[in-house]
Amino acid sequence: MTTTALFRDDFYLSTTEAIVTGIREDGGIELDQTCFYATSGGQPGDNGSFERADGSCIEIATTRNGDTKDIIVHMPAADQPMPLVGEKLVLHIDWPRRYRLMRMHTACHLLSVVCQFPITGAAVGEEESRVDFDMSETIDKDDVTAALMKLVAENHPVYLQWITDEELAANPDIVKSKNVRPPMGLGRVSLVCIGENSSVDSQPCGGTHVSETQEVGAIFIAKIEKKGKENRRFRIRFGTPETASAL
Ligand SMILES: [Zn+2]
Repeated sequence: MTTTALFRDDFYLSTTEAIVTGIREDGGIELDQTCFYATSGGQPGDNGSFERADGSCIEIATTRNGDTKDIIVHMPAADQPMPLVGEKLVLHIDWPRRYRLMRMHTACHLLSVVCQFPITGAAVGEEESRVDFDMSETIDKDDVTAALMKLVAENHPVYLQWITDEELAANPDIVKSKNVRPPMGLGRVSLVCIGENSSVDSQPCGGTHVSETQEVGAIFIAKIEKKGKENRRFRIRFGTPETASAL
């Protein structure tokens, strides 16, 4: 059964009701709709809990896609009770964790604005994210941090625009990522736009983001690693270099 992905239209939806539509052989739970983000595009899937009518909870360890993008599978933690098909649940995502991932994910977009090279890989994390660029230049990490924090302080709006798969196929230049494919296959693709009229950036992405850059908060480049002749790995962390070195 396909699942309506409520997180695609509302990144701030932390709870919703849903009906169980299927239990998979691997224990995965399928629902008619969900606010749980499914792992993709470098952003890990949501964890949290499903509240049953009697008030008891089923802990969810992670969320991923099934065989296709429109199937979303919620994987329970070990030794959890199983709901019944047709059962109504109240879903609660681990919001503090998801919000950190949204801030970090948005920070990765800002880094792609500051560092205008093709992206070869990215992984969003709660404490640290990494973005790999196809580049051989040497850049000072403190300069990158200053440019990132300028974009954060300017408080640009972050919003989605939807385009069709055909429009994206006709405009391949808007894709910055070399290896991470844009979220096609659902008929429409979300463009993540930063700044009025996309003045800062726009990039196809199916992840979750904050609604203005100030929400990203203090971030800094902890490290720029040389991974091969033409690859540089940037590590983004929350906080400032000063607070980090005090740890
Ligand atoms: Zn994104």
